[in-house]
Parts: sequence; structure tokens; C-alpha cells
Amino acid sequence: DAELGPAHPRWIRINALKTTLDDQLDTTFRGFVVVPSIDEVVASAGQGRRVICLDGHVPNLIAASPGVDFTKTEAYKSGAIILQDKASCFPAYLLDPRPEDGDVIDACSAPGNKTTHLAAILHERRASGAGGSGGAVAWAPRQGAQPAPRVLAFEKDAQRAEVLKKMVHKAGAGDVTTVHGGADFLQTNPDAPEFRRVGALLLDPSCSGSGIVGRDDAPVFHLPSAGSGKGGNGNNNGTAKKKTTTMAATTTNLGKRKRPGHGSGITSQEQQQQKQQQKAPAPSAPPDSTSDPARLASLSAFQLTLVQHAFRFPAARKITYSTCSVHAEENEKVVLAALASEAARARGWRVQRRDEQVRGMREWPVRGDREACGEGHLEVAEACIRAQRGDGRGTMGFFVACFVRDGKEDEGDE
Ligand code: SAM
Repeated sequence: DAELGPAHPRWIRINALKTTLDDQLDTTFRGFVVVPSIDEVVASAGQGRRVICLDGHVPNLIAASPGVDFTKTEAYKSGAIILQDKASCFPAYLLDPRPEDGDVIDACSAPGNKTTHLAAILHERRASGAGGSGGAVAWAPRQGAQPAPRVLAFEKDAQRAEVLKKMVHKAGAGDVTTVHGGADFLQTNPDAPEFRRVGALLLDPSCSGSGIVGRDDAPVFHLPSAGSGKGGNGNNNGTAKKKTTTMAATTTNLGKRKRPGHGSGITSQEQQQQKQQQKAPAPSAPPDSTSDPARLASLSAFQLTLVQHAFRFPAARKITYSTCSVHAEENEKVVLAALASEAARARGWRVQRRDEQVRGMREWPVRGDREACGEGHLEVAEACIRAQRGDGRGTMGFFVACFVRDGKEDEGDE
């Protein structure tokens, strides 16, 4: 998340496990001018100005002038601040873990941005002794004294699990996080005693990575003009017209770098293919195409399996599903297929409506792809959250939706 293009703000998450927003404003950001909009942050690029904007959607998030290097700061080195794209902060915030929810599973964790975000939110909630985020989902608090909730972080790839462990340690999340390194989430037994208190799950599986800033084969978004109310992903940004050029043209170099957070962990065959593509001279197709239909089909099948597995955890009441893909096949289509599955119906899983979401996500204007959902499922499109790169909001392409389940603890359990 640290390697972003020149016209992209530096997104910085203040790590509540180690510091506070006020402390950071007094130290790391001393001398920065606080401006009210992302536009001003982006405009400061190349002007030699150091400005920041406090994000209006996600708590503890700051957008800073592009090009400012925070990796040399004490706060970065100590884990007090974490460089993390705004959209990448949506899943943990939307999941809204609260102490009364019990344990939280992060099913696909490395390198650990969302794991540490979950731990930070839980820490804040415990410290303040309450929820209070504006969420309105109807799950019942459990009765009686409960042990402190934990974050159970799964990562199938043993090497990446080492990176995860380092990040968890650096962020000060070690006390509340159990890392299951080299462990396949799909092999877990949801009915095992160790998972009986799992009330929430965050699913951020391997995906095509087509929304990542800098991908040189990213699709061009032709955004609808203001007020048209059609097409695209519900974006109604009035500046859309002049933004119909491809972002790829400005960011080709970044597209070739290894991106540890996304699009990995699929198959060794795929890795081989990528290596061969990198060796091939002047390819006519993009070097790491993210929209190959066969690949998308295989990814979405894996993603759906993951969601259905998560549905089986007996005490689970909420699940976020996210990708950094722009493709409906990996996003709305997975959500719709999951909702239609026997696994969802057996336990009463449904999508969390927009009006039930935490305030910042409820207010986020870019929603799911209505066309992909179809006339019969427009409420699902409204419940889904998208972020689009190049639309002036300063994020990468991203998707997240939340599934919730009402009723008593054992209702629907087999
Ligand atoms: N959530 C991470 C973050 O925010 O830093 C990024 C996760 S990345 C998109 C997907 C990760 O899932 C990869 O590290 C991959 O190795 C891992 N993964 C894929 N399949 C898995 C499985 N079945 N069980 C556990 N981890 C898996």
C-alpha cells in the first residue's frame, strides 16, 4: 500500500494500539497544514507543500501530500502509523468488531493490514467500554463475563505468514492476535471448540488485483456524467467526464512491482505463467492481465467457497467479504451466489443493508454495480461498497460487502 502513484494521496492509518490521532498531529504531522478536501491534498503534489486531510469516512485515517516519505519517521518505524490505502481500511471498519461479538477470524491475513486494523478497533472499543460506531445491526450481546476477544489470523502461505507475524508484532497487536501461519482457512472445522466464540469473520481472499493503483492493464472507467444515474458503479462525481482516460498511462512502472498484499497465493502454475510473461519480449497483451475469463472463474469459485465456509461458524453474526478487484465476477456475483446458496439459507445469512452500516460506510457514495446485480437485486447493489481509482476520491479500486445473520446464537445451527 505504500507504493502509490504521484497523484494519489499517501493514506496513513493511525494505529490506535500505539498512539492517538492527537499525538500524531502534534508530532509526525507537526508543520503540516490541515486542509478540508482530498482535492487540495492531491493538488499539493509538486508544490512543495505539506498538507493533510483528516478522512471523513474512516476514523483514524489521514490523507497526506503525495510524495512525502513517511517511512523514515519514528512513527512509521515504531508501528504507530501504518501506510494503508483508504479502501483497504473499509473491511475492518465495516465489520465493526466489538468485544461482545467474541473472537474475530481474519481468514486471509498476510501481510496483516486488516488484521492489525481489527486489533486496533477492538482495543479502542475495549478501552472506551462501548461500541458507539453508529452500527445498527441486530445481533444480541452475549450474556455474562466473557474472556477478552482475540483476532485469529490465518495465512496459508508460510513465508507470507512470517511477514504477517512481523507486522502484528510491530503494530503492537501480538497480545490480542493468534497467528495461524501456514494454515489453510478452508481446512478449519467451524464446529471445533476453539472457534465456538467466533462472532465475526473478515474475508479478504486472493483476487485478480485489478483495482490496485499502478496496474498497467486496469480497465478504463467511463464514469457517468453527473445526474445521469446510470452505468458505472453508481458514481456521481461531477468531474467524471474529464476522468475517462486510463490511469494506466501514468503508472506503468508500478504495475511491474511485486505486490505482497493481493493477487498472490493462487497456484504455482499461475506464478510460472507470470514469470514467463515477464520474460516475454514486448508482449502485445498486458504482462499481468487481470481479466482472463478462466482465471476470473477460478478465482470467483475459490472466493465463493471461502464465503460459504465462513457461513458455517456457529456463533458468527457478521462477515465482510472484500477484494481489490474491479470485476463483478469477483465481487457482486460472489455476493449474489453466496446469498443464493444453501449455506446462507440454512443459517439465515443476508446482506447488511446500507442503512445498517457504520456511519462512514453508510455515507460512502460509491455502491455496487447495479447492472451486475440486475433489477431483481438492486438492494444488494446498494448494500455493496465499491471504491474506484481515478475518480477523485484518492483510493484504489476495491469492493466490500457485509453479510449478517439475525436471531439467537444457536438458531439455524444443524
Ligand atoms: N488481508 C491482507 C491485508 O490486508 O494485508 C491481504 C490478504 S491477500 C489479498 C490474500 C492472502 O490470502 C494471501 O496472503 C494468500 O496467501 C492468503 N490465502 C489464500 N488462500 C488462503 C486460504 N485458503 N487460507 C488462508 N490464507 C489464504
